[in-house]
Amino acid sequence: MTAAPTAADLTPGRPVVFRNATVLTMDDAHRMLRGADVLITGEQIAAVGEGLEVPEGTAEIDATGGIVLPGMIDTHRHMWQTAMRGYGADWTLTQYFVWNYLQWGKSFRPQDIYAGDLLSAIEAIDAGVTTSVDWSHNLHTVDHAEAAVDALRSVPGRFVLAYGNIQQAPWEWSTTPEFRDFVGRNFSGGRDDMLGFQIAFDVPGSAEFPEKAAFEVARDLGVPVTTHAGVWNVTTDDGIRLMHEHGFMTPATIYVHAASLSPDSYHRIAATGGSVSLSTESEQSAGQGYPPTWKLREHGIGVSLSMDTSVWWSADLFSAMRATLSADRVREHLEAHSRDETVTHHKLRAEQVVDWATRGGARALGMDSLIGSLEPGKKADVVLIKNDSSPAMFPLLHPYGHVVFQAQRGDVHTVVVNGRVVKYDHRLVGADLARARQAVGQTVEYLMGELGPEAWAEGMHPEIPETKVLSNPYTYRDEAAWENRDESE
Ligand SMILES: [Zn+2]
Repeated sequence: MTAAPTAADLTPGRPVVFRNATVLTMDDAHRMLRGADVLITGEQIAAVGEGLEVPEGTAEIDATGGIVLPGMIDTHRHMWQTAMRGYGADWTLTQYFVWNYLQWGKSFRPQDIYAGDLLSAIEAIDAGVTTSVDWSHNLHTVDHAEAAVDALRSVPGRFVLAYGNIQQAPWEWSTTPEFRDFVGRNFSGGRDDMLGFQIAFDVPGSAEFPEKAAFEVARDLGVPVTTHAGVWNVTTDDGIRLMHEHGFMTPATIYVHAASLSPDSYHRIAATGGSVSLSTESEQSAGQGYPPTWKLREHGIGVSLSMDTSVWWSADLFSAMRATLSADRVREHLEAHSRDETVTHHKLRAEQVVDWATRGGARALGMDSLIGSLEPGKKADVVLIKNDSSPAMFPLLHPYGHVVFQAQRGDVHTVVVNGRVVKYDHRLVGADLARARQAVGQTVEYLMGELGPEAWAEGMHPEIPETKVLSNPYTYRDEAAWENRDESE
């Protein structure tokens, strides 16, 4: 073994090999290799195996004690909202809608979209999320959209811009000449594996189906549609039925949440080959419905994972994997207990959830031949989880379980995107975090000024509903006197 490279040694184009890792290939057989190497040359994975011969001048990264897996893939994140990171920690979907659609969303200028996207994009690669779908539904103008493209192009990650505009109906904005020009200008050069394109809008399910026009635009452009489906009381089975009856459900369609749907809707999704993007932390806190893993399992529907928005949560698929596995098990136990039964064997395994965080995303995006697994010839999107100073990184007995329940984003040692090292030895390489910090700082200052300190504080701290404390049969008091007590004393 040669001396460990420094970040400066990892110049773009130089071959890189990870040595002596536990490798989760996530290939069709889910091969797991111990003490194995992963060699990257150019943009691709050249070889996976033990004791690999490598080209002269290859940078050698010691992965002993670590896990190498494919870059993780987030199929739904409103990246622009990262400018308001954590602000909505105590929200439900109701507060989100009020704030986002009626108050704050409108205030976003192109530079604010840029700021949020930039920070979110850098955060993603730092956490080992090498591909993110930017579910960008606040593009009031094409200037906003250009700002999103600028931000995503300036960060060395893989992205898909899912274009949307909550300030107008989808059949309005998607049919304008400006939108067509934008797509032509930015996405007409054939498929771009670093920055893909989708159209993002929701279908509440009104009988006239005005969204038909937007679906026709997507079909005409040959791009997929992604849609928040099965959101409690917002998007319903009628929306799915209308999409199906008009022939707009395809294998490329991504249904986000899909948490409040009937079996009929799941059958339609399964029959047309679409997939569901689960945002378990979102579904649990915001209230779209219970994360539907067990229903998707029963219907044979493909799953990918997502974090939805950093206005609540972070762009961290370790959290997504953990929450998703736990939610599935909670449900199984709870339902069994209600039948007076015991679950003795879990249906959902850590291995499956790691698949959803990697391969599942690649399949959902139609990029399975390019990314999602560590196989020779695929694009080199690779993550090394290794942290020699963490007591939680050994022993490494059940590597899938380790990824899901033990590791966290701070353990992401090295990240490679398209053959380029973008994080090494726990530090970002070639991402301008200072610029993101400055841009986000300006956006926060501007938004606080627009809203005023009172509205700002109110938005962050919704009222807490009253909790009635039960009277306790084991404490003794005179209930009549208690009810008539004088609070002023
Ligand atoms: Zn969403």
